[in-house]
Amino acid sequence: MKLLVVGAGLFGATVARERALKGDEVDVIEKRDHIAGNIYTEEIEGIQVHRYGAHIFHTSNQKTWDYINQFATFNRYTNEVIANYKGEIYNLPFNMNTFNKMWGVVTPEQAKHKINEQRSKMTGKTPQNLEEQAISLVGTDIYKKLIKDYTAKQWGRDPKELPSFIIRRLPVRLTYNNNYFNDLYQGIPVGGYTQIVEKMLNSPRIRVQLNTDFLSNRDMYLEQYDRIVYTGMVDQFFDYELGTLEYRSLHFETEILNVDNFQGNAVINYTDSETPFTRIIEHKHFEFGKGNKNKTVITREYPAKWEKGDEPYYPVNNSENNHLFTQYRELAMKRVPQVAFGGRLGLYRYYNMDQVITAALQFLNGDFFKVEENN
Ligand code: FAD
Ligand code: UDP
Repeated sequence: MKLLVVGAGLFGATVARERALKGDEVDVIEKRDHIAGNIYTEEIEGIQVHRYGAHIFHTSNQKTWDYINQFATFNRYTNEVIANYKGEIYNLPFNMNTFNKMWGVVTPEQAKHKINEQRSKMTGKTPQNLEEQAISLVGTDIYKKLIKDYTAKQWGRDPKELPSFIIRRLPVRLTYNNNYFNDLYQGIPVGGYTQIVEKMLNSPRIRVQLNTDFLSNRDMYLEQYDRIVYTGMVDQFFDYELGTLEYRSLHFETEILNVDNFQGNAVINYTDSETPFTRIIEHKHFEFGKGNKNKTVITREYPAKWEKGDEPYYPVNNSENNHLFTQYRELAMKRVPQVAFGGRLGLYRYYNMDQVITAALQFLNGDFFKVEENN
């Protein structure tokens, strides 16, 4: 079978590798000048720099963890994020250290009491949006200092207009545990993420072409390939004919500094409204200070409005957009049944890396390729 994979990110690479192992000849095209999509890392001053924002691998799915471990050894990095609110420092995610700093409470019982006091207006109500969900989880003080402005900066809209699931990504704990994630497994791949994708694509049956945009030659590709797996934006594939899905973009500003240690932590979030960026990443701390002792590399992450032509980093999964996505899905099934849409953009989902791998493996077990095999 002639298979084309559009996009050399994690979804595309997983599909390409697994189909090549089954004997398919796979062409992978990628419009950027490098593989690995948004998990791309590159070495600068002996440090693996995450070009598209901090990427920490975490999962509770044993199969997915075993899968990714074929391609890398993971270090024991645990993400412990610091929040800086106008110079006040708090631990994230919301835990006893946060509550102690905010209110002086010491025991879980005292913290619970304080949260209950502050969430009383939510008693018996189901949270309808991110603001209500946040207040219902951690009360008004934490909402005001650590969530409201950060969220408004990140998404470019009031938290009242955002779905509540976004804030449920963060754990709330009545323990002194600063781990940003609840998952069983977590770490950073030694040597970075790019080499993982390199290994996945390293097969005599896979040909990768960079700087190649599917949409510049759509008809030719549709004609030439039996099956296409498309990991770009589904609305762009159809020239936005049903309307435009919303995305959120980012702008990254990376700097090499002549100091050993700039901020003392890998990730510091700036949760006030005046600071224009949301976070600063200091990459060497993902690898416990590895690299040049007199230099460090930092990246400021600025949220940005997405417009056609910008990088679409985040889908905005409110009900209108999700509904429009469903319509695109139906259109795709009718008009181009030989094309499967996958990954964060093709499926329009706020997927983490492990979810992308899990989704790709599930997709590979589905019917899309079986039709061809049965013929
Ligand atoms: P992508 O990596 O976006 O790959 C799609 C590829 O398709 C891109 O390379 C693109 O250039 C290419 N493409 C698109 N259209 C075309 C076209 N027409 N022709 C040719 N090529 C095309 N996940 C975690 O698990 N942990 C984290 O800590 C984490 N942090 C994140 C931080 C940020 C700032 C962001 C934005 C995401 C983060 N993620 C994290 C999520 C992670 O990046 C994604 O889950 C994963 O990269 C998605 O892989 P993908 O293959 O679906 O998409
Ligand atoms: N969030 C917040 N304050 C923080 C960190 C996160 O209010 O200091 C909220 C914000 O709405 C964000 C969401 O929690 O979009 C999820 O955070 P996460 O760190 O998972 O975001 P991502 O890494 O995907 O950008």
